[in-house]
Amino acid sequence: MTNTPYSVRCLLCSTEVGQLLNGRLRRHPGCTGPLPRRGGAPRCCHCGGSLYLEPIDRTELALLTQEVMHERTSQAEQRRRSHAS
Ligand SMILES: [Zn+2]
Repeated sequence: MTNTPYSVRCLLCSTEVGQLLNGRLRRHPGCTGPLPRRGGAPRCCHCGGSLYLEPIDRTELALLTQEVMHERTSQAEQRRRSHAS
């Protein structure tokens, strides 16, 4: 079992339906409700196509992490500002 993050994509419409992080599926905000299942395997929420896993590029992941860090920093900054005023 590895902690490699995967992007879960549809073979037919190439929509990203979610991400597999630490072995858990995080559904994409664009996919509301549970993924339709056929034959025990989850399917695309848009077209019902087969899904495949694509390892997330490390640089892409680094960018995502940076975004989160940036969000946290700006939130902390806002809190500081509201305290100062
Ligand atoms: Zn699809």
